[in-house]
Amino acid sequence: MPFSEYIVKQAWRRSGGRCECIRTTHGHSRTCRKKLLELYRGDDESDYGWEAHSKSGAYLNNIADCEILCWDCMEELRYL
Ligand SMILES: [Zn+2]
Ligand SMILES: [Zn+2]
Repeated sequence: MPFSEYIVKQAWRRSGGRCECIRTTHGHSRTCRKKLLELYRGDDESDYGWEAHSKSGAYLNNIADCEILCWDCMEELRYL
């Protein structure tokens, strides 16, 4: 089950519209903080694209499990 809109909204607000990735293997600084636009969720063509990623992989109904990631970071995860 994907995250509910409610969870994604909360996580989006927490992120301040920036990528929350802190993975050291991605080549960005400690936190990615790439600027994102809310409208571009799921848009892999846009520089402002992002997606809600489940840290646990289980999509817990919990904003602690939901991180806002820019598309670059999403792709890194996909291919690792
Ligand atoms: Zn990122
Ligand atoms: Zn990253």
